[in-house]
Amino acid sequence: MVDILEKAKKVTVVGAARSGIAAAKLLKKKGYEVFLSDAGDESKIDSDILAEIRRNEIEHEFGVHSERIFDADIVVVSPGVPQNSPVVQNALAKGLEVVSEIEAASWYCKGKVIAITGTNGKTTTTTLIGEMFKDAGYKTFICGNIGIAFSDIVEETDERSIVVLETSSFQLDNIKKFKPFIAILLNVTPDHLDRYESFEKYLESKMRIAENQNESDYFVFNYDDELVRNSSKSVNSNRSAFSLSETVKSETKEGAYLNNLDLVYYYYMGEENVIDTQKLIIKGEHNVYNAMASVISAKIFGIEKEYIKKTLENFKGVEHRLEFVRELKGVKYYNDSKATNVNSVWYALKGFNEPLVLILGGKDKGNDYTQIEKEVKQHVKHIIAIGDSKQKVYDHFKDILPVTVAADMGDAVLKASQNAAENEVVLLSPACASFDMFDNYEHRGKVFKEKVNALK
Ligand code: ADP
Repeated sequence: MVDILEKAKKVTVVGAARSGIAAAKLLKKKGYEVFLSDAGDESKIDSDILAEIRRNEIEHEFGVHSERIFDADIVVVSPGVPQNSPVVQNALAKGLEVVSEIEAASWYCKGKVIAITGTNGKTTTTTLIGEMFKDAGYKTFICGNIGIAFSDIVEETDERSIVVLETSSFQLDNIKKFKPFIAILLNVTPDHLDRYESFEKYLESKMRIAENQNESDYFVFNYDDELVRNSSKSVNSNRSAFSLSETVKSETKEGAYLNNLDLVYYYYMGEENVIDTQKLIIKGEHNVYNAMASVISAKIFGIEKEYIKKTLENFKGVEHRLEFVRELKGVKYYNDSKATNVNSVWYALKGFNEPLVLILGGKDKGNDYTQIEKEVKQHVKHIIAIGDSKQKVYDHFKDILPVTVAADMGDAVLKASQNAAENEVVLLSPACASFDMFDNYEHRGKVFKEKVNALK
């Protein structure tokens, strides 16, 4: 790879989304001849992105992937471009070096990378770790799948910087040398099965986060996730476990566990009670996992407990993740639009003691609702089905509890409010992607909040 990099002159970037543009700009600045190709029509490309392409004079084509793509030494693929797409497969068949955007960015990173992956909890954990390091006085960059691309900030890094990188499996699919100092694997449950051949392939892709690590690096993992626990045995770095159910001290030299309700960090010299988990503002067991992964990362850098505790006590979570919207007539409304798969709905349901009216549905990615049947029976009194998958939701649950089909989000919020009584909760936790009705999950969450705030 180093040879190829040294000899390479021409780069094609496939996919004109945020990270694709960032990689194109970075590599152009580094002296490569850059060509950008996006099969989508120009009218579909964000106007800010178009302006950036022009401002940076990046050669490009829209609406096609022409043969020109393959006139390159390196092809950088955006995370939105599936591995099995003809363009990636052709590039590989022609012997071109195919890499992801984080791989390209990592060639120029001078700081230490903390990379976070998992099916659920990436953004929350990335944000929380970022806050912890900022609060402790580090020059910290929060990037990846979360607003800013790694390529956007990499040139500002120096030896003392911390890069907290939210890393999707799509970004990991095409790494070569990417080697985080700390790699965190939160959990692996079925998702994106529309883009992977099988669940095993998806798990393999997540595990690649550790493939270039060595004994000076750390692999921080969820011990309670059996697949993750088993896979962790193959890594070359220092394993660091966290668990809600086991005192994992005999498993790894360092890690975190729960003692009653206290989050305890342990290491070879002893252990310390970091925080009473009841003091966390972010709700639910899943957020205790996220807190544990964050504490371990901070402790690897020797950050004092007092700083860590303060950040944890002040962290309010991230928008669209079990976000409290308002209370009206004794009914609380929560926006969990980011719950785009069944597993995150499972955790969301377990986070509530009140009876729930659940708004469920959207663009289905192969959901198996039997996985949440038990929790639905326990916590939900009424389902409002929305989106492309409303019929599937209706058919699955109609014999278990009342299900009402809604035409759009406004209708769903209205019907939910009509079916919720005092001291109950209306929860949008759709288990689906949003593209059937919205631009993205943020848009879905915003529309939900608007409709909730407009209720009289
Ligand atoms: P991601 O970036 O991986 O999609 P987020 O932090 O945005 O994760 O959270 C997405 C949803 O997943 C949230 O709405 C929440 O309900 C759920 N979630 C968050 N953390 C976890 C976790 N550690 N385990 C399982 N589910 C989680």
